[in-house]
Amino acid sequence: MAGNKTILVVGGGTSGMTAALEAAEVGYDVVLVERQAYLGGRVAQLFKYFPKLCPPTCGLEINFKRLRSRPNVKVHTLAEVQNISGSPGDFTVTVKINPRYVDDHTATTKDVEECPVEISNDFNYQMNKVKAIRLPYEMAYPMNLVADKDALAKAKGDSAFEAFAQSCAAKGIRLDLDAQPYTMEIKAASIVWATGWRPYDATKLTKLGYGACANVITNVMMERLAAPNGPTAGQIVRPSDGKKVNNLAFVQCAGSRDRNHLPYCSSICCLASLKQATYLREFNPDAQAHIFYIDLRAHGRFEVFYEKIKQDDKIFLTKGKIVNITEDAATKDVILEGEDILSGRKIRRTFDMAVLATGMQPNTSVDKVPASGVTYDEFGFVVSGPGIYSTGVGRRPMDVATCMQDATGVALKAIQDAVGR
Ligand SMILES: Cc1cc2nc3c(=O)[nH]c(=O)nc-3n(C[C@H](O)[C@H](O)[C@H](O)COP(=O)(O)OP(=O)(O)OC[C@H]3O[C@@H](n4cnc5c(N)ncnc54)[C@H](O)[C@@H]3O)c2cc1C
Repeated sequence: MAGNKTILVVGGGTSGMTAALEAAEVGYDVVLVERQAYLGGRVAQLFKYFPKLCPPTCGLEINFKRLRSRPNVKVHTLAEVQNISGSPGDFTVTVKINPRYVDDHTATTKDVEECPVEISNDFNYQMNKVKAIRLPYEMAYPMNLVADKDALAKAKGDSAFEAFAQSCAAKGIRLDLDAQPYTMEIKAASIVWATGWRPYDATKLTKLGYGACANVITNVMMERLAAPNGPTAGQIVRPSDGKKVNNLAFVQCAGSRDRNHLPYCSSICCLASLKQATYLREFNPDAQAHIFYIDLRAHGRFEVFYEKIKQDDKIFLTKGKIVNITEDAATKDVILEGEDILSGRKIRRTFDMAVLATGMQPNTSVDKVPASGVTYDEFGFVVSGPGIYSTGVGRRPMDVATCMQDATGVALKAIQDAVGR
């Protein structure tokens, strides 16, 4: 093999990790750059995977193990690509690495539990607070603490914080709030762009009550609500009063297939709601789940999953478009209004809580690839770029298994540039 054999992978979710590992396992050097403090992407925030309903930590741990045994994959977290120049076979990439502001490779959450400063918890979609020095989550890779500089800097001089800082020093945990980002240059033959997705912003769905009604949440929040390491330790309860949810509505296509929001189908939302209905039924066997959909889409082998969930007589499927959600001022119950498509009748029903099934929006619709020649479709998904290969949900909406297949194929395209065609 001639020339530069290094492949740069940007984004350390399922897709990026898969592409990195597939290329590394056939002998290529890989640099994996991830913006967050940990690998795993959005999958790390799921409670269970459809269709098997197993925890995603199993699949992630297999990949982390593969990474640990691959010295030819260099991982940089808190890292972002600033610029890409050059051409296939010979790229120069500038990457900015942000500090963790805390330095210790053995400390655990327990070592910093006395931290008096708390911040809103991104990992749980802001549903609770977390210590300003923390492990990103229990299974984080790398398993290193990270600190929120801004929140801690504000607490400087405060006696509780100073006492805590001293206790950290005594344990050998070094807080360095003055640490600075630095940049590095990477030479790469090809680039895999795997920066994934963000949930569609539900505050834009003004008629569907998100933000205005206390008990309207989104599907990504539902994943955290059901998770034992989530904000309620797995209790599916209402945000307004902590009451156990007995009667839950799922509103499909919340903003999807709507030319004012996301005009496309995210392909996984129906399956995610069917899956989340099982979370509720397991947590509370007396509870009912009502799914309001335009078309229930369970492509390919997922039909079997859909058929199985449908057997549950406390999961109700209504072909109906929900157009308005309000709340009862006294009880905080949510009131759904819309149209039952099959009967043509109006829907007006009250539930304990509603979950908006919002779609996946590519991060590249906001953060473009910092290189010339990259093209995007009308929704911001990457189409192509010379020597830059997009994979996973950055390319189009897909489930985890499809991401893995896609990323494996893309690794081969990246390898072809590293070999030199
Ligand atoms: C509610 C819900 C439930 C779901 N449940 C399931 C399920 O049960 N089963 C299933 O198969 N699928 C499920 N999915 C789909 C699944 O989440 C996606 O298929 C998966 O997350 C795609 O992985 P990815 O690596 O392409 O993207 P992501 O998971 O988004 O990973 C992208 C990574 O890139 C990083 N990144 C972003 N921008 C940059 C940048 N500029 N520089 C460096 N790094 C960057 C991100 O931090 C992230 O780590 C669900 C989706 C939703 C919305």
